[in-house]
Amino acid sequence: MKQSRKRKTDWSQFLSGVPAWDYIFQDIPYEKQVERASVLMKEADYILVGAGAGASAAAGLTYSGERFTGNFSEFIEKYGSTYMTDMYAAGFYPFPTQEAKWGYWSKHSMINRFLPPAMPLYKQLYEIVKEKEYFILTTNVDHQFQKAGFQTERIFATQGDYGNIQCEKGCHPKIYDAEDLFRQMDQARCDCLVPSYMVPKCPVCGGNMAMHLRCDQYFVEDEKWHESAGRYYDFLQKMKHKKGVLLELGVGFNTPTIIRFPFEKMVRENVKLSLIRLNMSDAVVPESFGNRAVGIGGDMAEVISDLGNRI
Ligand SMILES: [Zn+2]
Repeated sequence: MKQSRKRKTDWSQFLSGVPAWDYIFQDIPYEKQVERASVLMKEADYILVGAGAGASAAAGLTYSGERFTGNFSEFIEKYGSTYMTDMYAAGFYPFPTQEAKWGYWSKHSMINRFLPPAMPLYKQLYEIVKEKEYFILTTNVDHQFQKAGFQTERIFATQGDYGNIQCEKGCHPKIYDAEDLFRQMDQARCDCLVPSYMVPKCPVCGGNMAMHLRCDQYFVEDEKWHESAGRYYDFLQKMKHKKGVLLELGVGFNTPTIIRFPFEKMVRENVKLSLIRLNMSDAVVPESFGNRAVGIGGDMAEVISDLGNRI
């Protein structure tokens, strides 16, 4: 290969304004890493948790494998295994009718939102942070933080919730609790379809409804969403001149602009903040953060448990 690209800089060499060469996998033994993380946590007055899909996957709520093939066998059979590879891909299937769409989503919601109890990873995390001034910023929509005991006022779930629905076109800024509806659909579903009379319609425009998930420009940010956003902002203000830890859990590069990049920016701009990044495969941290960053790869459930034993 020619070396001609060596000096050329393009976007892929920069992450959040930091040259990619600043990122390192820390070459420190696991025990030492957990010890460093526990000291940072103990010394912190404020803990901001940022959780992405990797946190729930590590907690056991995986979207593929047995959880998918076991629970969605009739959907895989009906729509084909080419599309129905896992719950993430299945959610993007172009369901031909509203009966089919809600047939799938009511099941998805039951499996990921209503049936699972609070998972041990989330409960352990709650034990670790409950005495601190904490706040949760999450892109997860499975309600695990609330189930594990975290105060609703201290959670900002930016991307929605599997338990709610909204107007498909976002014609009015309101979301609707769909638990009863989904439980009824789950009982009535036949050949992957729900009966037509159960299909929800927008009470304002009469159009179709959709899951309350940020997937297009019609995502509804209602009053509660804005209140949560405001509380998150207030928390950041309070944390400004205090000792704080940003505990990032399973945040990859799907939507890094919500948690991963802003967290790095905050740590870069405030010497009293530290970053603990737990990530199965992307636990790289900026080398320039020095002792203010701990990046631990591998099984997060194990790390949280080990962390809990030290705090
Ligand atoms: Zn509407």
